[in-house]
Amino acid sequence: MNNPGSQTAPLLEIRNLKTWFPVRRGIFSSVTRHVRAVDGVSLSIGRQETLGLVGESGCGKTTLGRTLLGLDRATSGQVLFDGKDLLTLPSRARQILRPRLQMIFQDPYSSLNPRMTIKGIVTEGLVEHRLLRGTREQEAIRLLGEVGLPPDANYRYPFEFSGGQRQRISLARVLSLRPEFIVCDEAVSALDVSVQAQMLNLLMDLKERHALSYLFISHDLGVVKHISDRVAVMYLGHIVEEGRTEEIMDHPGHPYTQALIDAVCIPGRPRRRKIILSGEIPSPINPPPGCPFHPRCPRVMDVCRREYPAECRQGTRRVYCHLCGPKQE
Ligand code: SF4
Repeated sequence: MNNPGSQTAPLLEIRNLKTWFPVRRGIFSSVTRHVRAVDGVSLSIGRQETLGLVGESGCGKTTLGRTLLGLDRATSGQVLFDGKDLLTLPSRARQILRPRLQMIFQDPYSSLNPRMTIKGIVTEGLVEHRLLRGTREQEAIRLLGEVGLPPDANYRYPFEFSGGQRQRISLARVLSLRPEFIVCDEAVSALDVSVQAQMLNLLMDLKERHALSYLFISHDLGVVKHISDRVAVMYLGHIVEEGRTEEIMDHPGHPYTQALIDAVCIPGRPRRRKIILSGEIPSPINPPPGCPFHPRCPRVMDVCRREYPAECRQGTRRVYCHLCGPKQE
């Protein structure tokens, strides 16, 4: 898979991003603790690049995606889109940029107004942002064609479509605003395997046709492997490993990545001793000291309980583990 994004400045750069939610208690609702959903994430996504974001449910993937779009409020850090920090940009400037960043969700039905026709749904954003050229009807037919739906879908309602077709309608609505960056949050997870494959192919076609970049959030490593140029692995609000897809899938550097890969059947994967993941992901309200993965790691050492692992670079890959590099015991 090519990676045009690596040759130019990144479209999106996330620097030490934190999204903490306050936990309130008592009659005065005072803040006693925080849920550290995203806890110091740094990532970059190039133009026309797909970054797969994987991890167990509750690791902070969705909150990260929502924070980038301004749907959850960041506690600190920077989100540079085309060089501009979305977190400090004046609201008017942010509104102008906003159509260029979009999101599609796992459950398209809940994000489509059941009382509106498909024509109304897919052109709603165009009217709101005053981007409509020509009639709503013409624009809706063009957008439906982009996602492989017939023109007569225009006059129907969301309940008349299957899950896969509804996800296509969500995509048409998102495309209407001519985005450059789309967060796909478990966008194919609820679909049958055959429909999943069609949707992934459509996403890849659209990426080529419209020079899109994706943050593709999924718990399904097989799907992520299929669509992503690079993969980032998230655990308890932190990125624990990030690199080129083949590199991560074939030779994971972090024990958590290895356990995730060992838990699924991925064709063509090199054989090695398996790591079986046990126990639950700890609470993000009270994360463990040192390496966040240490209570579940079969290769845990004393240093892991005390010190957060520094970034360890191996070529284009980065890993956060004391086993990587000179800090080994
Ligand atoms: Fe396991 Fe230690 Fe590496 Fe964390 S730093 S993944 S506990 S070996």
